[in-house]
Amino acid sequence: MNLSEILCKKILSREEIIFLLSLEKEEETELLFRKAREVRSALCGDEVHLRGIIEFSNHCKQDCHYCGIRMSNPDIKRYRISDDEIIKLAEFIYESGIKTIVLQSGEDMHYSGEKVAGIIRRIKDNCDVAITLSLGEREFADYELWLEAGADRYLLKHETANAGIYNKIHPYQNLDERIRHLRFLKEIGYQTGSGNIIGLPGQNIGDIADDLLLCNELDVDMASFSPFLSAADTPLAGHKNCDIEIVLKTMAVARILLRNVHIPTTTALSTLRPDGRRRGLRAGANVIMPSYTPNDYRFNYLIYKNKPGTDEGVESKLQQVYDLLKDEGLKNSDSKGHSLKQL
Ligand code: SAM
Repeated sequence: MNLSEILCKKILSREEIIFLLSLEKEEETELLFRKAREVRSALCGDEVHLRGIIEFSNHCKQDCHYCGIRMSNPDIKRYRISDDEIIKLAEFIYESGIKTIVLQSGEDMHYSGEKVAGIIRRIKDNCDVAITLSLGEREFADYELWLEAGADRYLLKHETANAGIYNKIHPYQNLDERIRHLRFLKEIGYQTGSGNIIGLPGQNIGDIADDLLLCNELDVDMASFSPFLSAADTPLAGHKNCDIEIVLKTMAVARILLRNVHIPTTTALSTLRPDGRRRGLRAGANVIMPSYTPNDYRFNYLIYKNKPGTDEGVESKLQQVYDLLKDEGLKNSDSKGHSLKQL
């Protein structure tokens, strides 16, 4: 296969995706990353969208084998941030100039449909922001209620398109059901986000190609690709962390294949390498999600080991983001950063 020819294509076959993901030589991966930046610049512009994330509860009824906040992990202190505190944090995010609030938690049934809807309404009444929810699989009626209450987006990663692996590492869930939720969310009007974890046991390059093709088929508005990072006291605690290069290649191929979707450069990349976030931007990402979860809680939202920045102040983290963007010739967007597919 010819790299330059493939990089000029707008539609990629599974074999071509595998070819791109398998590139090893630095001069070749550089061509891939450069193409991803060109596509980003042409379709998304030079603006990067900041999303302030509040991880408001680490209670979870699921038992994902990789996740540090899984139900069976006995060693973490469980917390819930009060509604009033969530609203104050949302106001603080809005006042710091960020126009999207991401509300994330484990699958915590303490938060009934109505309780979450109340939080969404209060945020929307007080702040002119978009709201992304990342609360796991819930009743379809809840998704409808939250949309009516003002939620804009829903992030529910499919984690892996390999059903055998998915079903093995998610004891109470299955891939078909996950996909059914993603389709429903899209159908009723959410901007949807999916994505995978890279480096799961048994996963191969073909599986990662399938993840990208699944995101394409689901017509997602956002796609997040993160490395597997081992978490203490989980069944996968001894499994090795993912190599950053394959994650960066996946992000770059995603940019070329999925075109104008929003792709974050994740915190997990910075855990792998100090310059991980920068390298994510260089692989075509256009979103950064700084955490606004207060330190008292964040130390217990350790979905994996060594999550970075846990003792830094919010202001200094934000300044680092602005400096990074300037350095990379990018700008901080002042819009809500809605789906580029809807324009
Ligand atoms: N409960 C919600 C859900 O299921 O979508 C959101 C919370 S969950 C902790 C958020 C994401 O963390 C998951 O989609 C998963 O991809 C990621 N995650 C959890 N443990 C991880 C690990 N050890 N390595 C990499 N990503 C991990």
